[in-house]
Amino acid sequence: MVKEQLKEVQDRIKNACIRAGRNPEEVTLIAVSKTKPVSMIQEAYEEGIRDFGENKVQEILEKEPVLPGDIRWHMIGHLQRNKVKQVIDKAVLIHSVDSVRLARQIEEEAAKKDIQVDILLEVNVAREESKFGFFLEEVEPAAMEIKDFPHVHIRGLMTIAPFVENSEENRNVFKKLFELYVDMKSKNIDNVTMDVLSMGMSGDYEVAIEEGATMVRIGTSIFGSR
Ligand SMILES: *Cc1c(COP(=O)(O)O)cnc(C)c1O
Repeated sequence: MVKEQLKEVQDRIKNACIRAGRNPEEVTLIAVSKTKPVSMIQEAYEEGIRDFGENKVQEILEKEPVLPGDIRWHMIGHLQRNKVKQVIDKAVLIHSVDSVRLARQIEEEAAKKDIQVDILLEVNVAREESKFGFFLEEVEPAAMEIKDFPHVHIRGLMTIAPFVENSEENRNVFKKLFELYVDMKSKNIDNVTMDVLSMGMSGDYEVAIEEGATMVRIGTSIFGSR
């Protein structure tokens, strides 16, 4: 089942790229395996998937040791400062940095381990009260502080768009984030790369790709409902 659903998602990603005149290689599929068993991750792995997303530190810690070592784990969920230490050397990318305080904690723990940590800044584009993340206008000021943290490297931006019936309703959210992404890239801020734009989930990834996403985080459409 995972195999067929994965194939369908990969086809849709490819078609969205073609519609947008983009190279499908620009878009990385992150299979969001939260709450799903190791056996299902293994199935996706056998189909060639290497990027998996989890939203709980504990789940990464449990799954990582029993799965192949070339899996790239993405931390996509809200991260508490007291869990930073455990996850920074397990995840290749932390998508959900939503405060300078959290980035500072990552800096401190990364310095102790003498490692570099790649992060994305999470943006609450639609200003939803229920969501974490910087508001659009807060992103650049935050980046200007975080750029001075020698062990933390900002690679781009991430958003979780509102839950909507029709994915077209989120097109404007993705457009706004893409604009900010391009704008910040053009400023060539030291220690800020802006080569990753993580947006799009099961309900809206095709629209997100049309609007410039370079990573899509897809759970339900691959592994079924949770
Ligand atoms: C669960 C989750 C996803 C995947 O959601 P689906 O709708 O199942 O594709 C993507 N991003 C984040 C941050 C999530 O927590």
